[in-house]
Amino acid sequence: AIELRDVEVRFETAKLTFDCTIAKGGIVAVAGASGSGKSTLLHLIAGFEDPDRGEVRILGENVADRAPSERPVSMIFQDNNLFAHLDVATNIGLGIDPALRLSATDREKIEDALRRVGLEGFGKRLPPTLSGGERQRVALARALVRKRPLLLLDEPFAALDPGMRASMRSLLRQLHAEEGNTILVITHHPEDVKALADGVLFLDQGRIIANDSLDRFLARRDNAAIDRFLGNT
Ligand code: ATP
Ligand code: MG
Repeated sequence: AIELRDVEVRFETAKLTFDCTIAKGGIVAVAGASGSGKSTLLHLIAGFEDPDRGEVRILGENVADRAPSERPVSMIFQDNNLFAHLDVATNIGLGIDPALRLSATDREKIEDALRRVGLEGFGKRLPPTLSGGERQRVALARALVRKRPLLLLDEPFAALDPGMRASMRSLLRQLHAEEGNTILVITHHPEDVKALADGVLFLDQGRIIANDSLDRFLARRDNAAIDRFLGNT
């Protein structure tokens, strides 16, 4: 499980407090208005952000006790930050070794990851020559080669048209079925939540106001922010 215990993060303009337990093995959608704290929550779980108070534990272990390269997490950031001047294969290689000491086996892993995200033959392309959806899939391939039990995705559907969103969802479902990992995925779209998630974390103004199974979440009628998100007017 992922546990956040009395976690507090204070920024100049925002104070975020999180306390929750997320079971392992499912796909959990993280939703909520812009600025509600979704990215910060994932950064805390990945150990990229330190809480001012409280602790984050993954599988019983405090995230802060592990070196970044040894944490059981791989993450795709909101801006998917590929290096524009490095080709696709090299960008994915950075997920295996940030110093890029890549063996022949690693090269095969990169080819395999490209195949899995439907980008066979794209290894030599530079990111600026790719479409937005292709760049998101390269970022996913880079996260996949890390082979971690927890995959954190910050808006992998952003800027995709409905058709591309649907194919990204089936890609994630397929990867989840193959790897049995835990996936946390941020999205602004209720259809992504309905089509993909087993559970939902819903944030409002720096707090978690729902940590529900999908069915329970969809049945909720007790909160205006959730109503707005689900379109229950
Ligand atoms: P969006 O949907 O727009 O991506 P979000 O839910 O991911 O929003 P966060 O990025 O987690 O929101 O930000 C939550 C709040 O914390 C915002 O008010 C933001 O300005 C603030 N914040 C986040 N990171 C920092 C930081 N490093 N320094 C200062 N404030 C920050
Ligand atoms: Mg965000």
